[in-house]
Amino acid sequence: MALKNYEFWFVVGSQFLYGPEVLETVAARAQEMVDKMNASGNLPCRLVYKVTAKTSREITDVVREANHDEKCAGVITWCHTFSPSKMWINGFANLQKPYCHFATQYNRAIPNDEIDMDFMNLNQAAHGDREHGFIAARLRMPRKVIAGYWQDADVQARIGSWMRAAVGVAVSKSLKVMRFGDNMREVAVTEGDKVEVQAKLGWEVNTWPVGTLVEYMNAVTEEEIDAKMAEYESLYTIATDDIETVRYQAREEIAMKKMLDAEGCMAFTNTFQDLYGMKQLPGLASQHLMAQGYGYGGEGDWKVSAMTAIMKAMSEGMTGGTAFMEDYTYHLVKGEEYSLGAHMLEVCPSLAADKPRIEVHPLGIGDREPPARLVFEGKAGKAIVVSLVDMGGRLRLICQDIECVKPIMDMPNLPVARVMWRAMPDLLTGVECWITAGGAHHTVLSYDVTAEQMKDWATMMGVEFVHITKDTTVEGLEQQLFLNDLAWKLK
Ligand code: MN
Repeated sequence: MALKNYEFWFVVGSQFLYGPEVLETVAARAQEMVDKMNASGNLPCRLVYKVTAKTSREITDVVREANHDEKCAGVITWCHTFSPSKMWINGFANLQKPYCHFATQYNRAIPNDEIDMDFMNLNQAAHGDREHGFIAARLRMPRKVIAGYWQDADVQARIGSWMRAAVGVAVSKSLKVMRFGDNMREVAVTEGDKVEVQAKLGWEVNTWPVGTLVEYMNAVTEEEIDAKMAEYESLYTIATDDIETVRYQAREEIAMKKMLDAEGCMAFTNTFQDLYGMKQLPGLASQHLMAQGYGYGGEGDWKVSAMTAIMKAMSEGMTGGTAFMEDYTYHLVKGEEYSLGAHMLEVCPSLAADKPRIEVHPLGIGDREPPARLVFEGKAGKAIVVSLVDMGGRLRLICQDIECVKPIMDMPNLPVARVMWRAMPDLLTGVECWITAGGAHHTVLSYDVTAEQMKDWATMMGVEFVHITKDTTVEGLEQQLFLNDLAWKLK
């Protein structure tokens, strides 16, 4: 489902104490607030006013409805007046959707002359939101608290940002990953407990035979390949005379897409160690599928593939770019320390600073014909890299702030897409932190998704979150990881 088709339900807490006139005013104002916030253009999904709840029954009913409505990606609550929170316990105990408590107030200013006790009883969000916040804390609910005036663009943007994280939850819970082949032999970090992940995150991770993909490839028609080639020509510079090799990638892409779509999979993996019956490792084919929103993980890495799909869905409609990435090599000249990220082939062109070039080069690994691939430089700008690892008994999501730069050299003999960056707080401390936390070499790199959104997503999914920032020290991180280990053993 497209991001804009999700909706969020606005549920306002109150009680009967104040009489029908106050309740009518609250309901009318809640509708007005929703209408104005929707009209602001700052929310990526529609906010829907549902109810001013006065009883436990009304709250339980709206929660039950939210749980079962596929379009509803989350519930946002607020208390215009005071809403006694024991009324909320039964509903909250059953809430299965992401939850945000919006602490706001209808009026911006206290009206000096007008204010009397009637005004106070109608406009007591400061009072009601505290009672409301207590019960969520008492119930240990995963939640987002956003405080601010509802007409302010920055406050609306924060709600919009949380909405995208919540859509990431909805996408996660319905995500299917297609694996062509298994894991690259002997690699540890790409492994994990698929049963636990399905129970926790909802991912259905299953395998399909490479032989079936080859059958699909053999069934692709020349007309289908012609159409795909026209698409490539419109988007990319064809910088090779070896058109047959590019057409072979088109054949692979069409076949993979048919299989993915037939099974409803938005993510896939493959491994260069299992290409039986295929002439080329999919390069351009995987890259162009990623550009269409599919997640990808190399060497059988289903975790990074799923995270790529989820983060692409969270950032739908944004233009920065989100891609499967791999830490490859360092530039350790003092004062200009950088990481160079790339992959054997498969980097998503959403990261490209300029029009990508389709090139054909031999591949030193995998014993297949030279594959066509997109070659480009990544954009400069602030970004994050994210890695989900299985710690045994729990998942850990590691997120690092990075600053991408235009690559400081042109590397004319490097035949793959490349991105150069400096990890926070500085490259070497950042590397020490990343390795200390157990972060993988495979990551999702995003210019669009923020660390706060990934933290929100991890909170909603019940996943440990580790954030490496400009302020992180190795000592502080070690302490946090030690305490996290203890805390997660108790959970
Ligand atoms: Mn790799």
